[in-house]
Amino acid sequence: MKFSIQSRQDVQSNELMDLAKTYLQDFGLVYDEEEPEIVLSIGGDGTLLHAFHRYAKSLDKVAFVGIHTGHLGFYADWKPSELEKLVLSIAKKEFNTVAYPLLEVQVHHHNSESNTYLALNEATIKSPDVTLVMDVELNGEHFERFRGDGLCVSTPSGSTAYNKALGGAIIHPTLNAFQITEMASINNRVFRTVGSSLVLPAHHNCVLKPVKDQQFNMTIDHIQMIQTDVKSITFNVANERVRFARFRPFPFWERVHDSFIANE
Ligand code: NAP
Ligand code: MN
Repeated sequence: MKFSIQSRQDVQSNELMDLAKTYLQDFGLVYDEEEPEIVLSIGGDGTLLHAFHRYAKSLDKVAFVGIHTGHLGFYADWKPSELEKLVLSIAKKEFNTVAYPLLEVQVHHHNSESNTYLALNEATIKSPDVTLVMDVELNGEHFERFRGDGLCVSTPSGSTAYNKALGGAIIHPTLNAFQITEMASINNRVFRTVGSSLVLPAHHNCVLKPVKDQQFNMTIDHIQMIQTDVKSITFNVANERVRFARFRPFPFWERVHDSFIANE
């Protein structure tokens, strides 16, 4: 089996990376950064986001595992002290995989150019200085004219990240869905938005259309870009899924509890 390792590049993560590499090679596994079947991410959830985007073109072949060298993460849910157990399980192929839904984002420009992105956590659309004004369509029907700071469109596994900070719901990642959450919408007697987060199933789509020819910021997980000349942005649940190797049960709600309530 071929493996690769992504490190956060701090001293502890790099030491653990060297150790994991040596152990796995001792068991006859091959280090291959180009076509790995298993990718170890050592650091935090942010490190796993980097690993995901590095291998986003080969998701059907790759399973990810996260080890946290800081606090417990949602993707990085193994402790450094469990490394030997982890290596043994990988070597013996004693693991299952779980697949989580991803978000597909298509940006269509006026010049008929378009780009497609995959997000593991979320995509955000923000205008830093002036009010963002976007028409929101759900399944081809006008839903609302949004005015405010921006919108966050998240995956179920990303619902515990930025979406949660915005007051969105936590969605179990077995639900094939995506969530739209507002950032500081303007609501008064003239301007109206729904206010609540919306959770859409896999066969639905959301399209945002800039009302003026406004430039705005877009993020895809940790990646930031400036968008200009945009006609529309389409969001839906992607056909691709991300796979995580599971060596022991660690139910999602237990991770939510241990991350946000108490870790005991
Ligand atoms: P970062 O600023 O280090 O990340 C912010 C925090 O989000 C970190 O504590 C990170 O955990 C955590 N996180 C990432 N994915 C998560 C998930 N699925 N569930 C729960 N927590 C999660 O930047 P980054 O590490 O490059 O991560 C980018 C992410 O930051 C974005 O995808 C977005 O979700 C999040 N973000 C959050 C806010 C906010 O909450 N107000 C604002 C901007 C961006 P680690 O420390 O383990 O990396
Ligand atoms: Mn981080």
